[in-house]
Amino acid sequence: MEFELMDSQREIRDAVAALCARFGNEYWHRCDEEHAYPEEFVKTLNEAGWLSALIPQEYGGAGLGMVEASLILEEINRSGGNAVACHAQMYTMASILKHGSAEQKQRYLPRIAAGELRLQSFGITEPDAGSETPRIKTFARREGDHYVINGQKIFTSRYQHSDMLLLLTRSTPFEEVKKKTDGMSLFLVNLKEIGDAIKAVPIATMVNHGTNQLFIDNLILPRESLIGEEGKGFSYVLSSMNAERILVGSESIGDGRWFGEYAVKYASERRVFARPIGANQGVQFPIAKAHMAVEAANLIRLKAATLFDRGLPCGAEANMTKYLASEAAWEAGEAAMTTLGGYGFAKEYHVERKWREARLYRTAPISNNLVLSFVGEHVLGLPRSY
Ligand SMILES: Cc1cc2nc3c(=O)[nH]c(=O)nc-3n(C[C@H](O)[C@H](O)[C@H](O)COP(=O)(O)OP(=O)(O)OC[C@H]3O[C@@H](n4cnc5c(N)ncnc54)[C@H](O)[C@@H]3O)c2cc1C
Repeated sequence: MEFELMDSQREIRDAVAALCARFGNEYWHRCDEEHAYPEEFVKTLNEAGWLSALIPQEYGGAGLGMVEASLILEEINRSGGNAVACHAQMYTMASILKHGSAEQKQRYLPRIAAGELRLQSFGITEPDAGSETPRIKTFARREGDHYVINGQKIFTSRYQHSDMLLLLTRSTPFEEVKKKTDGMSLFLVNLKEIGDAIKAVPIATMVNHGTNQLFIDNLILPRESLIGEEGKGFSYVLSSMNAERILVGSESIGDGRWFGEYAVKYASERRVFARPIGANQGVQFPIAKAHMAVEAANLIRLKAATLFDRGLPCGAEANMTKYLASEAAWEAGEAAMTTLGGYGFAKEYHVERKWREARLYRTAPISNNLVLSFVGEHVLGLPRSY
């Protein structure tokens, strides 16, 4: 059993860290204040090829695995940044790589790898369905060689910064399917080719995270936009969801490390009562506890990513990564806030921004309550709670 990163993985991590160092806390602070998309950062990351990490080399990508992809996103958050602006390209990719047609891969992957197209938008959540995805109502009706789609999505992030949208719909009504996850279909939508069939209305949130409500009105898509077979979309989207949980968990690990490193430095330098505050166990212990939680989350993340890369079932580990890492980051964020005292609230210290950002991952892309039910029911075999 191996617990250390390989040299090549360490090199990736260090190269991403060097790139991120060009965009310090002040850059991210400015984006947050202005609610601006970190365009320059995303462009630089794309040009360096890191966002195409998972695209196979035959399509112009780096052909790396989930372990490497997770280290890339971890490093962005560890640097004080926020990978949320660009992470979706990595997890939406998983559905296309595993279930897309040869024609879809040939058509889009080289252009995504070259940075000409951005696949950053993932439309799952709906206002009336919430966490109960099978209750989505956005409906794709087959008409000859095309589909007509109508419905609504909510919290669809990065829509304005994406050329493509991975869209989950129903294609058989919920009431007519035997198994509730049947009858859903997954589409790859080229946003440049749909005119004004989708209206995006931005939702103001407490984080710098361009997210939207989408109103989909007679969106006409050719059959070639369908991923895999009609009605099996939910099973395909699970590949992306597992990738998403591992990658988002990795960002939380990066957040946890950033908080820890920041708190240790501050606690060692800040002197009150004629000694560094970090000498007080009331300050030191929460930082130490959070550090252990982050380290533990890191191990399950490496296990989940390794299983994913080997094509083995990893749903339990992916969910546990997302839960443990987001809770560890939150614990570390709380420890950092406490360590900084009043300065934790001052924006120029950056902790309050990271604290707001880290909080998101206890709720999205799946709320931690739902992860607990998944583990209770599907991993432990406890009776269904809903
Ligand atoms: C900034 C932001 C960006 C997002 N980006 C995207 C995106 O790009 N694409 C996308 O598809 N979605 C996105 N989401 C949506 C996100 O995935 C959902 O908000 C999340 O899954 C929770 O769904 P909900 O908000 O409808 O909460 P609800 O389902 O209404 O749940 C509300 C609360 O009740 C709890 N709850 C509900 N049912 C149960 C139960 N049976 N047992 C225990 N607790 C329960 C939940 O855990 C939660 O705490 C984003 C959300 C945010 C805030």
